[in-house]
Amino acid sequence: MNYLEKRIIEEGKVIGDDILKVSSFLNQQVDIKLMQKIGKDIAKYFKDKNITKIVTIETSGIAPAIFVAKELNVPMVIFKKENSKTLNSDLYVTKVKSFTKNNIYNLVVSKEFICNNDSILIVDDFLAAGEAATGVIKILKMANAKVAGIGIVIEKSFQPGREKLEKENIDVYSVARIKKLSNTNIEFL
Ligand code: 5GP
Repeated sequence: MNYLEKRIIEEGKVIGDDILKVSSFLNQQVDIKLMQKIGKDIAKYFKDKNITKIVTIETSGIAPAIFVAKELNVPMVIFKKENSKTLNSDLYVTKVKSFTKNNIYNLVVSKEFICNNDSILIVDDFLAAGEAATGVIKILKMANAKVAGIGIVIEKSFQPGREKLEKENIDVYSVARIKKLSNTNIEFL
């Protein structure tokens, strides 16, 4: 069991049979040292891929993504979940179905931050059905940017996200991979 899997066993709470709550170190309170270690692990895996930018989705992807960006010494771009007045009008927009909120939101980024010569590493907190990652990839395709891979903190491998992404030949690296969740047990791959 790795350091993150141990932490999940110690502090994770299972809701129903498919949601993991890790609010004490990732989704509400953030353990910065843990994020730094996760950032280093993800960066190490992708270090030879000539990454030019990290892309993440607000809010919970930001903490791990900062440390991946620091390790690889590249900028981090945050894709927003709404269209805010501080964004200009020159935007890429796509719709995404939220796994945890069960709604549809607009994923938005200013066109100026994604270029056609970018090689992008996507970083997010969880991979479930792969909807968020698919939304980001749609926008990267609109910008003609290259998807260099996806770095995930916690993957729920019993859900179809990884399979969906691998079908598109996208390299997925996850620090923890959960095989099975129940209110009495968390099993890793
Ligand atoms: P997907 O788009 O892959 O279906 O779901 C990924 C997104 O939904 C993540 O960005 C994360 O915010 C949220 N999510 C999915 N499953 C879980 C979960 O079990 N726990 C938490 N805290 N968030 C999740």
